[in-house]
Amino acid sequence: MNAPLPARGCSTTPVLKERGQREVFCGLTGIIWLHRKMQDAFFLVVGSRTCAHLLQSAAGVMIFAEPRFGTAILEEKDLAGLVDAQTELDREVARLLSRRPDIRQLFLVGSCPSEVIKLDLQRAAERMNAAHAPHVRVMNYSGSGIETTFTQGEDACLAAMVPALAPTQTRELLLVGALPDVVEDQALALLSAMGIQNVRCLPARRSSDAPEVGPNTVFALVQPFLGDTHAALTRRGARHIPAPFPFGAEGTTEWLRAIAKEFAVPEALFDQVIAAPRARAEKAIAAVTETLSGKTVFFFPDSQLEIPLARFLTRECGMRAIEVGTPFLHRDLMAPELALLAEGPTLSEGQDVDLQLARARAARPDLTVCGLGLANPLEAEGLATKWAIELVFTPVHFYEQAGDLAALFARPLRRRALLAPLAPAMEAAE
Ligand code: SF4
Repeated sequence: MNAPLPARGCSTTPVLKERGQREVFCGLTGIIWLHRKMQDAFFLVVGSRTCAHLLQSAAGVMIFAEPRFGTAILEEKDLAGLVDAQTELDREVARLLSRRPDIRQLFLVGSCPSEVIKLDLQRAAERMNAAHAPHVRVMNYSGSGIETTFTQGEDACLAAMVPALAPTQTRELLLVGALPDVVEDQALALLSAMGIQNVRCLPARRSSDAPEVGPNTVFALVQPFLGDTHAALTRRGARHIPAPFPFGAEGTTEWLRAIAKEFAVPEALFDQVIAAPRARAEKAIAAVTETLSGKTVFFFPDSQLEIPLARFLTRECGMRAIEVGTPFLHRDLMAPELALLAEGPTLSEGQDVDLQLARARAARPDLTVCGLGLANPLEAEGLATKWAIELVFTPVHFYEQAGDLAALFARPLRRRALLAPLAPAMEAAE
C-alpha cells in the first residue's frame, strides 16, 4: 500500500534559487560507471593531469584486463597554442584504435582545459568518424566541471548518442539511464512478465545492441538527471512516460504502473507481477525504518537524485526533510515527484555553499546528504552525513534494492549512535 497522497505536495512550493560558490564533482565522474556498462566503449578524456588524477582515484582499481578509459593529457605547449592539439589527438586516437580492435565506440570527453583552449572536439569526432567508421563510432561530449555537477556527465554522454541512433517506426519501449546489468535485468524481467515486448536500453551493453528511435518510441527514465537526453529523444520524435523514479517500493510501483498503463497491461496482471517483489521490498525497508523513522534529513545539491530520495525517505521511511537542495530543478521530470513530496521542506536549487552550510548548522539535521568535500567537516561538527556520490555508485533502483537504499541512509545514523557513548572519552583524550 502506498502512503496516502499528501494534502499538499511541493508542486507549487516556492524554490530558493542560489547562484554562489558550489561544492560538486565534475561530469568526468560519470565515466566510472559508464565504462562498466558499455562493454565496447572507450572514454578518452582530453584534459589535464588533474583530470587524469580524478579519474584514477575515483575509479579505484582497474578491473579489466584492458582499460576502457584514459586521458589524452594536454601539455603546456598545447595550452599555449604552440602545437596543433587536433593533429596530436588524431595521432593518439589512431594509435589507440589500431592497438584495440575491441573498441567500437569512442567518446572524446571534453574537460575544463580543453574548453579553455576551445579545442573543438565535435570537429575532431567528425574527422575521426570519417577515418574509422564503420568499425568505430566516435562521439564527443563535455565532462567539464565548470557550472556542472557530476551526474551531468552521463546525461551529456547519452544525449550525444541519441542523434546517431538508427531511425525506426516500430513501437518500442526504451529504458534510459545506465543501470548495473543485474538491476537492469530485474526491470526487464518485470516488464516481460507483464507482456511488454520490444524493450531496449540506452545505453546498451554493446554497440551492436544500440536501440533505434522514432515517433513510435516511448521512453522511461530510470535516473532523474537526464534532462538533455530527454530533450534529445523528444527531438527524435520519442515520447516520455512521466512517472516517479524507481526508488523504493512506491517509486518502483508507480514507475512500472505508468509503463503498464501506456501498454494497456490488465490491472490484475500488473498486480500479480508486482505482488511478491513489492512485498519483499516493503519488508526490507521496514527492517531499516526503525533507525530512520522520526529523523530529519537535509540534502545538499549534488547527485540530482535529491528530490526522489527525499520522497522515498519521507513517504516510506518516516523521515522528515528539512531542506531538499538540487543542482537543477527540471520541472517536467520532477512533477510526479513533487506531487508526492509533502509540503514542508525548503526546496532549493543551485548553491551558495556558505549560506547553505549556515542553514544546515542552524537546523542540526539527524542526517545530512552531501558531497565528499562537505562531509568530513560536518562530521567533525557532530553531524551524521551520507556521501551523495555513493547513491550513484551503489545499486539502489527497483524492488530488490529498496532495502539496500534505506540501509545506506541508516548506516551513518547507526554508526553515530554506536560512537556517541565514546565521544566524551575521545574529547578528553584530544
Ligand atoms: S574537468 Fe575540470 S573539474 Fe574535472 S578534473 Fe578536469 S580540470 Fe578538474
